[in-house]
Amino acid sequence: MARIAVLGAGGVGSAAARFLAREGHDVTVLEQLEPDHDRGSSYGTSRIIRKTYTDGFYTGLMGAAYPLWDELEREAGEPLFARTGGLFFGPAEHPELVAIRRALTENGVPFEELDPAACARRFPRLRLLPGESGVFEREAGFLRASACVRANLRLATAHGAQVRARTAVEGISPGPGGITLSLAGGDSLSVDRLIVAAGPWTARLLSRFVSLPFTVTRQTYCHFEPEGAVEEFSAERFPVWIDFATNFYGFPHDGQSPGVKVAWHEMGTPTDPDRVDRELHEADRAPLRRYRAEHLPGLSPRVALEKVCLYTMTPDTDFVVDPLPGEPRITLVGGLSGHGFKFTVLLGRIAAWMATEQRVPWALSRFSLARLSR
Ligand SMILES: Cc1cc2nc3c(=O)[nH]c(=O)nc-3n(C[C@H](O)[C@H](O)[C@H](O)COP(=O)(O)OP(=O)(O)OC[C@H]3O[C@@H](n4cnc5c(N)ncnc54)[C@H](O)[C@@H]3O)c2cc1C
Repeated sequence: MARIAVLGAGGVGSAAARFLAREGHDVTVLEQLEPDHDRGSSYGTSRIIRKTYTDGFYTGLMGAAYPLWDELEREAGEPLFARTGGLFFGPAEHPELVAIRRALTENGVPFEELDPAACARRFPRLRLLPGESGVFEREAGFLRASACVRANLRLATAHGAQVRARTAVEGISPGPGGITLSLAGGDSLSVDRLIVAAGPWTARLLSRFVSLPFTVTRQTYCHFEPEGAVEEFSAERFPVWIDFATNFYGFPHDGQSPGVKVAWHEMGTPTDPDRVDRELHEADRAPLRRYRAEHLPGLSPRVALEKVCLYTMTPDTDFVVDPLPGEPRITLVGGLSGHGFKFTVLLGRIAAWMATEQRVPWALSRFSLARLSR
């Protein structure tokens, strides 16, 4: 069995560690901060999970991810995936909606079509405007992101993995006998294989191996207080949703954090992951408040919770999942481009296969490093 280090204990790293430890490898997870910290990308109570994509490639991959989430939830013995259904809407013949219908149909994913009147009857707290239409995916919902990360790490540890918190990797030196990792504080670790899942810190960490055109951006979201009873926005009565024409999206009340989350999938300001402006400003809140007024009747403008999070964007918004050029012992998973949490269990599975030289049952040239230099 191989000695394998997993660099980064976010969504991807924690998932890879669980698979590798379960298969009996000698696994060490190295995390620069505390596990489930809020400085990277995987912290919080909600991330949308859906098969609804405009691009059928991702719809197909999600078909493989859903059973892995179910398995994680069973092993963890706690609720991780809230199956609320998801409404994905925009002007009825908007190109994104047309592409969604095609991708779902081609992949055999059932969906319903809701017009504004049908939406008002079913989800009175979500308003479609005249001329808009919604595609409802029953199997969509949200993942309790922090709980998923913690469950993966707990299960990895139960299978024998070591999780080293507050242990930053400062140097990576491949040699003939293995890969030596220089750790903060002067310690070092020798392993046979390495998975790099460092999220927003990836490009800087790997700059001596590869030039990665990743852009780290500052993203914000707000939870707004309902005017009336919060139950009107509960997961039983309110779906996850995305407005595909404007890229606003949101969640039901998740039962853990206060209020109802609304966010905007629009690329934020580029930032250094170690110097992020973590305060929200009126300019961050204003577009969310305006959108809320138009589409979310019964949701007040009062903010119950607000937060900054980071995206790591690739130029084409496809992920990177590939060994480093000339160094097959190091597998990189990164550039999740703001839509990757729902895939983290699958990407962890794939990274674990790659790191142990097992066959990956999909052609993943879309995720290659080579495509970034073409
Ligand atoms: C506001 C927001 C909303 C989102 N909504 C959704 C959504 O609804 N659905 C969805 O699917 N996706 C969503 N995403 C995207 C998703 O959350 C991310 O793609 C995913 O969490 C990225 O996981 P990761 O493991 O790559 O990175 P991270 O979670 O950031 O993990 C990287 C880890 O590596 C550690 N690390 C870095 N460098 C070192 C080092 N040198 N030594 C040791 N450790 C190191 C970091 O501390 C960190 O813990 C959203 C993201 C944001 C910011």
